[in-house]
Amino acid sequence: MRIVITGGCGFLGSHLSRYFIEKGHYVVAIDNLLTGRIENVSDLFKTSKFEFVKYDVTNYIHIPGKVDAVLHFASPASPADYMRYPIPTLKVGALGTHKVLGFAKEKKAVFMLASTSEVYGDPEVNPQPESYWGNVNPIGPRGVYDEAKRFAEAMSMAYHRYHKLQIRIARIFNTYGPNMRISDGRAIPNFMTQALKNKPITVYGDGKQTRSLCYVSDLVEGIYKLLLSDINTPVNIGNPEEITLLELAEKVKKVTKSRSKIIFKPLPVDDPKVRRPDITMAQKHLKWKPKIALEDGLGKTVEYFKKELGIK
Ligand code: UDP
Repeated sequence: MRIVITGGCGFLGSHLSRYFIEKGHYVVAIDNLLTGRIENVSDLFKTSKFEFVKYDVTNYIHIPGKVDAVLHFASPASPADYMRYPIPTLKVGALGTHKVLGFAKEKKAVFMLASTSEVYGDPEVNPQPESYWGNVNPIGPRGVYDEAKRFAEAMSMAYHRYHKLQIRIARIFNTYGPNMRISDGRAIPNFMTQALKNKPITVYGDGKQTRSLCYVSDLVEGIYKLLLSDINTPVNIGNPEEITLLELAEKVKKVTKSRSKIIFKPLPVDDPKVRRPDITMAQKHLKWKPKIALEDGLGKTVEYFKKELGIK
């Protein structure tokens, strides 16, 4: 297959690019490098199966030649990033999704949207099944991401219903692993960097809020299986093992053998209190579930952050 991946130099996009190339496919990565980094894919150029186009996908997209699948993974994805870039976040989720859908239709390619657990907002149902409609504040600071992704889902469904385009919607829950930026602002990069430098680990709120963390290699396998399926409705992809943020801070401290103390900072506005995917659908229809335990994933991730920070 020849696959176009928007956001192909970002955290998930770079892992997907590598995975598809390893499976023998050809990848064209499009990225405007707002939060993506060319370093994430520098090893792929020598494979002769990788092409990079620096471009903002909120504009008209043209790539010559046949394309079998288009994966729309471009967007700032960390709350700190989408608060720093609120308008680009809205634009890539809304205008960008429209352009990428139009491009997929032109190429008669399968389209996949990187959607998010954020469509569930601060959920009143835990765990979250795909049938839950969510509890999102449209005008809060996270609204720029959440509503753009909800619009993106609606737009994708409209292209499926009206244009009969084959679509896949992956509702991606918290994912971690190599290629996250040190200054990305999310819990894992912050905790890892702080712990490795023996600086205070900043837990927001009382740390009782929960998340469920999926190691990136599991996520990528789930995305691949979803792409090859025939499911045109949203599917949760994530790890259902739920832990509190305070427990996560303690685990990071342990795997990094850190002397850091844990300190508490104010909880950001609209920070979801719980989050856990119900993955019944993925298990049943994709025969997929995560394999990597949190301790093991954190162990692999430490090595990456050590290298990034220049720590032996
Ligand atoms: N968080 C934290 N300390 C940090 C960064 C994040 O306690 O230094 C918390 C944040 O408030 C949230 C959870 O960790 O409750 C996950 O945040 P993240 O930014 O990773 O992504 P989110 O799941 O909120 O989209």
